Amino acid sequence: MSSTALKYKRVILKLSGESLADESGRGISGRESADIAAQIKQAHESGCQIAIVIGGGNILRGGQFSEDNMVVQEATAHYMGMMATVINSLSLQDAVEATGLQTRVMSAIPVDKVAETFIRRRAIRHLEKGRVVILAAGIGNPFVTTDTAAAQRALELDADVVLKATRVDGVYDSDPEKNPDAVLFESLSFSDIVQKKLRVMDATAIALCEEHAKPILVFNFKKDGNIVRAVSGETVGTWIGAAQTR
Ligand code: UDP
Repeated sequence: MSSTALKYKRVILKLSGESLADESGRGISGRESADIAAQIKQAHESGCQIAIVIGGGNILRGGQFSEDNMVVQEATAHYMGMMATVINSLSLQDAVEATGLQTRVMSAIPVDKVAETFIRRRAIRHLEKGRVVILAAGIGNPFVTTDTAAAQRALELDADVVLKATRVDGVYDSDPEKNPDAVLFESLSFSDIVQKKLRVMDATAIALCEEHAKPILVFNFKKDGNIVRAVSGETVGTWIGAAQTR
């Protein structure tokens, strides 16, 4: 156990596919993967159970791909996106296991040569045994993103919070990568997100979390140690809950 007090017993960590990539945002970088894995190890040592939903945007996003490609149907493109998350999961699994942690990849689409199929009760058992569970293939259905998968799995695995890792410090009133005067929100309610039309996670994910009062913490995973800070309840990022309180 680290000296930091544990705030959450179980979390869903949503990592975008780009979190595994270098500055280009494409492909998988060994160095970036190792950096994230080291942070996951640190967070796990705090005693928190961690399930990771990994995206696929460093390889393919179905919506964008089908806009750019005339022959592939949109539904097919989304399945391709889900396959991309399987690729990322296998890579992340090796990176996390290289830190000494035990992991299981569980896929919403059966790929039984490389991963277990997602079964809720089995996933909970893995978490209770201290294994990091890497959730592949989103929810297994097209036309949504892995943000929705993170919200869905947080509900069914009874996680305390969805930790949405981004490369900026949280939710701003405008894009901080374009506007240097963008203001960071410390906390927001779900209705603020809708009213202010803030881009946090996709609308289905926000609706699920709002309906079930599942909080979301948006934080910058690029700052070393922020994942353990987030699971320990330190004030990082932007807190989104039923009311504007952490
Ligand atoms: N996807 C899907 N169903 C799911 C999860 C993902 O169809 O439950 C597809 C969708 O096309 C998505 C792609 O997989 O764009 C990759 O996931 P995402 O865009 O969420 O990756 P990220 O942006 O987090 O890297």
